[in-house]
Amino acid sequence: MHIQPALPYATDALAPYISEKTMQYHYGKHHKGYFDKLNALIVGTKHENETLDMIVRNADGAIFNNAAQAWNHILYWDSMSPKLNQAPTGELLNAIKRDFGDVDKLKAAFTQAALNTFGSGWAWLVRNPDGKLAVVSTQNAHNPIENEHVLPLIACDVWEHAYYLDTQNDRASYLDHFWQVCNWEHASKLL
Ligand code: MN
Repeated sequence: MHIQPALPYATDALAPYISEKTMQYHYGKHHKGYFDKLNALIVGTKHENETLDMIVRNADGAIFNNAAQAWNHILYWDSMSPKLNQAPTGELLNAIKRDFGDVDKLKAAFTQAALNTFGSGWAWLVRNPDGKLAVVSTQNAHNPIENEHVLPLIACDVWEHAYYLDTQNDRASYLDHFWQVCNWEHASKLL
């Protein structure tokens, strides 16, 4: 059984940037639904006793989709914090300067990747196998850990269900809100 982890803050903690209603549906219905479906789908399959990471790397079809979405949202919740307007520090800041020039250039590249994702998907800050940071976007449920040597640091959900209640079709405003609540402290811990 895969258990949906508790949300690391209250459902209203990111308001007004991410509303309580969005969090209630997104965490309580969408994310929970991926866990429920995954747990039902793996019964009697070779994935029954695998970790979530293993399923993401080994499965395909509906089992992959639900496992990856279960995984992706865990990092997404951890990529946001009620401690507003954080800035990267220390080793993470040095790596950002080395690989992007400065924090604003990283944010611009990440925002562009999020806005250019056609339909549903995710924007990520990752550390690649060569040690360099990079921005990537993935479609639907896809996740950079499908390559086991890539380490995701920040995830931003750009499925419409992440922002439609708050900013309707305006994904760019949602990205503005995301940067207000971005949890650089957590990204530093992962690095
Ligand atoms: Mn989502």
